[in-house]
Amino acid sequence: MLQITPSANQHISRAKTFAPQSQQTINNTIQHNADPQINSNNVVNFRGLFHTNQTLKAKKELIQVAKMMFDRNLTAGTGGNISCKCGDKILISGTKTCLGTLTPKDISVVDKTGKLISGPQPSSELPVHMAAYAQRDDIGAVIHSHSPYIRVYAVANQPLAEDILPECTKNFGTIPCEPYHFPGSDELASETTKHLKNNNVVIMGNHGLLAAGKDLMQAFKFTDAAEQLAQVSYLVNHSNLPKNSFTPEQVAKIRGQNK
Ligand SMILES: [Zn+2]
Repeated sequence: MLQITPSANQHISRAKTFAPQSQQTINNTIQHNADPQINSNNVVNFRGLFHTNQTLKAKKELIQVAKMMFDRNLTAGTGGNISCKCGDKILISGTKTCLGTLTPKDISVVDKTGKLISGPQPSSELPVHMAAYAQRDDIGAVIHSHSPYIRVYAVANQPLAEDILPECTKNFGTIPCEPYHFPGSDELASETTKHLKNNNVVIMGNHGLLAAGKDLMQAFKFTDAAEQLAQVSYLVNHSNLPKNSFTPEQVAKIRGQNK
């Protein structure tokens, strides 16, 4: 049974910490749940499934970043999904899994066409992940999240057009908003990922956020920074405080376009 509602201590942890699971904790989780054994061909056997060391390492990182997402309140319950390239395969969280409690057996391995190779049924958002990888060769990881302030803009169907924080201006510019499409649909996959040609993140109307990075950590950082930009934007626009936006010259310098 998946643990969806965290304990009181976990609530405190989610609100106040940014620290990922320790590597020892991850290792213990892997060992406890998978009991891997490495044979002379450098192939790991856990519970009848054979994985290379490369796959096992990628699964450990995916579990760690998924836990960081849950702890940062970037997703809740069984919402959100996460994937990464691993050689010629793609690892993705399984359907109806909680990103805060993933174990190796919750991660699906699919080929480049999205066909299941091993593990559980993949996330229902597998099509949007596959379409994202098809947009740019440099995309190595994709994260779909349900963070609260991004969802405010998603419900408003508004792009996030704020040049107020340097790291967001550098990495995002204006974050586009794709209008609502039915979750898991091919239409959502094709229309949402078109924005990734020129953006690292895109708001999914009435839904959440899609972020693409060169690896899992970069996709996580984009997801986390976009949520903070949405939060700061919302708060400053609904306060009596003045707002100082960057000038075009400052924007150009931040983006390295003034050389
Ligand atoms: Zn979703």
